[in-house]
Amino acid sequence: MKPQPTTDLSKLTFTMLERAVIYARISGDDSKQEGRNLQGQLEMGRKHIIKKGYELIAELPEDERKFTSGADMDLPQLKKVLEMAHNREFDVLIVREPDRLSRDLTKWIILQEELRRNGVRIEFSLIEYADTDEGELLKNFSAVLADFERKKIIQRTIRGRQQKVKAGNVLMAGRPPYGYSLGKHEGKTTLEIVESEAVIVRLVFNWYLEGASLGKIAQRLSDMHVKTPNETGRRVIRIKKMGFTEWGKSTVSKILNNETYVGTWRYGKTSSKQETIPVTVPAIVTREIFEAVQAKRIQNKKEKSGRKSKFEFLLAKRLTCGCCGYKIVSNGSQSKNKTFLYYFCPARNGKDFVRECNLPTFKAALVDKAIWDWLEKLIKDPLARMIGIEEYKADREKITAPLKEQLGVTEGLIEQYNQELSGLLDSLKALDGRHSSRARTAILNDIEQVEKALDGLESQRSNLTRLLETQTLTEQQVNEIEEYLTEIAKDLDTVKQDFENRRRLIEFLDIWGTLKVENGQYVVYVQCRVGKNRFDIRQTQNVIKYHHET
Ligand SMILES: [Zn+2]
Repeated sequence: MKPQPTTDLSKLTFTMLERAVIYARISGDDSKQEGRNLQGQLEMGRKHIIKKGYELIAELPEDERKFTSGADMDLPQLKKVLEMAHNREFDVLIVREPDRLSRDLTKWIILQEELRRNGVRIEFSLIEYADTDEGELLKNFSAVLADFERKKIIQRTIRGRQQKVKAGNVLMAGRPPYGYSLGKHEGKTTLEIVESEAVIVRLVFNWYLEGASLGKIAQRLSDMHVKTPNETGRRVIRIKKMGFTEWGKSTVSKILNNETYVGTWRYGKTSSKQETIPVTVPAIVTREIFEAVQAKRIQNKKEKSGRKSKFEFLLAKRLTCGCCGYKIVSNGSQSKNKTFLYYFCPARNGKDFVRECNLPTFKAALVDKAIWDWLEKLIKDPLARMIGIEEYKADREKITAPLKEQLGVTEGLIEQYNQELSGLLDSLKALDGRHSSRARTAILNDIEQVEKALDGLESQRSNLTRLLETQTLTEQQVNEIEEYLTEIAKDLDTVKQDFENRRRLIEFLDIWGTLKVENGQYVVYVQCRVGKNRFDIRQTQNVIKYHHET
């Protein structure tokens, strides 16, 4: 209903204005296009309302850059729109054009349907679509185009990056490999050798060929107080009392594996080798040494897998001390005809560690049995497993929420700095002979600062993205778990006879436990991809005080 200009008072009281809500939205990839900023969209909506004579109920601007990117339905303001529609709080929703609501055709149709069901119609402030079948078709077509455009933008970005690499540029989101820094050469981005680190890289390769183990190499580097590559990422760094970080075996392993050191850097490393694009960079070690190391590594791995560990610990390296947070270690001893197997906290006797801990020794047999029995139950019970998986997902969601938020903030800042950068570049271009070289220097300084900040932010973004990926469970992974467990359930009694089989299952389900003492009771908290639990361990006293050799 439109307001009627009327002098008849009795009619006027019954003339209700239609209630309108304006929804505006910007996302990361369209912020640079004109007329698409939030204020612009709201302004257009207001004009539309005045023209049509509606009553403005609410303005809901959405800055998608603050949230996850892409076609996401979990946008708070859009949620608000649906909520208000559901409560019949308004009659017309005004947006600039269809793609402001959703760029994904399916979601667009669902949204439209949802609003229609609640008696809300959509009007566009940019284009008016006729209220006919053709108009309907046009609207949908416009949404298809938006969807297509979004996919094209993604494609273009990927292709752009690939072309850059093909032209000989090294493209890196994070930090360059240890031993290198990013540099420019003949207009191309390339890796430059950092000689102080390259020396260490060569040393690591040589030591390995001389027969030193990964652990031994790590130990030597730590003893020499060599700074670790900063990108140790998620690994727990053991901080010694002296206050510097130690090298880990995995860091050494990463160096020995990295083909970049023979002068071939690859773009797209995570996918299969055929899809990678090689870029030639300066070499730190020779091809001969690299190949020799690879051969030796394969040899060592074979020998290691053939060597059986003396004692079997089902949860080796998968337990944490609930008292101080260190990784639990396991050890056993044999006397005549008896074997004693224990889990204990390495900080128990204090030496070498920042913290001292008083977690008692846990009997490995009791801990392992409790966890295995629980696992068996889960393998036989698909329903309990389903609940467990959902719980796991919900937990992950909670864990990753702050990461997602941080990622959003990071992306917002990147956007902001990019704008600042282009502003600075414009002012640099605008400088002419009338300006002193001092002005130029000042701007160049600013540019350098902004670029530095951007580098840091971009590396943070890639770290966060990677972290998020490892922290979530995909549908495909859930299916894999189901298939695997169903297969195992068929033949569980045979499978469990073999320690290696049981251990493989522990790894596959990614089981982690925490040892604790609560009110004098020995307790194990355990969690994995298909569930979590808490066990009381019937161990009443700390039978043996295990002192590990130092
Ligand atoms: Zn401890």
